[in-house]
Amino acid sequence: MTDGLVQGCLRKMAVEPGPTQAQPVSYQLRAGEHRIDLNARLGSPLKLRWSGAIACTHCGRATKKSFAQGYCYPCFKRLAQCDTCIMKPETCHYYQGTCRDPAWGEQHCFQPHIVYLANSSGLKVGITRKTQMPTRWLDQGAIQALPILEVDTRQQSGFVEMLFKEHVGDRTNWRAMLKGEVAELDLKAERDRLMAATASGLGQLKSEYGEDAIRELDGQHHAFHYPVEAFPRKIVSHNFDKQPEVSGILQGIKGQYLMLDTGVINLRKFTGYEVSVA
Ligand SMILES: [Zn+2]
Repeated sequence: MTDGLVQGCLRKMAVEPGPTQAQPVSYQLRAGEHRIDLNARLGSPLKLRWSGAIACTHCGRATKKSFAQGYCYPCFKRLAQCDTCIMKPETCHYYQGTCRDPAWGEQHCFQPHIVYLANSSGLKVGITRKTQMPTRWLDQGAIQALPILEVDTRQQSGFVEMLFKEHVGDRTNWRAMLKGEVAELDLKAERDRLMAATASGLGQLKSEYGEDAIRELDGQHHAFHYPVEAFPRKIVSHNFDKQPEVSGILQGIKGQYLMLDTGVINLRKFTGYEVSVA
């Protein structure tokens, strides 16, 4: 599948941790039904050309512009997964009876969620559905991660994250992440510090949702090593909207970014874009 030209709509790269922590994360570029093993392409030329077409990743309809990383406008306005409460889970409005799709909400939001600490460009807090570990961390380019608490719903994870956000950020500085100048952290020590700082808030949430609602994890520490031959010194971004052809020598892959000698590209941003890859 790696030979010749493949064509299809971009999807988020498939990503798997290495078989051991010392071995690199493995990536596959996905275009339509095609999969290209990217680790094998390190050090080689890679060319992506956007045809000008974008297909909604949900309904397949052609769309002039992509919304929320891959949706057409009607899907963006209608789907529960595109609602603002996904980004801000503490604003879940299921109980007001206004969930855009209660069945979807039950399947995705009323499931165990994890509150974690990660080191992508420094310390950050985040939440994810339990089944999304470790994909979520790899998509962020985290070099370390530590799950710290488990809760029953996405909304509860949002409440917990709000408490932590008073003491720690929740963003990745993608430029720093791509430059590879990220120092290792003692995540267990950070956890202990943050658990102490949020103790009274967590106690309040427990009294509201039940003593068992927020469960401390004696989390396993995860460390990830990315397939990167050379980190860029200066970050230049490629953008299909401005330049339909992106090519260069593939020097690394981290998060959902390709690092070419000519610049970096966040493939996730271009989900649904029809490209040919050579
Ligand atoms: Zn659509």
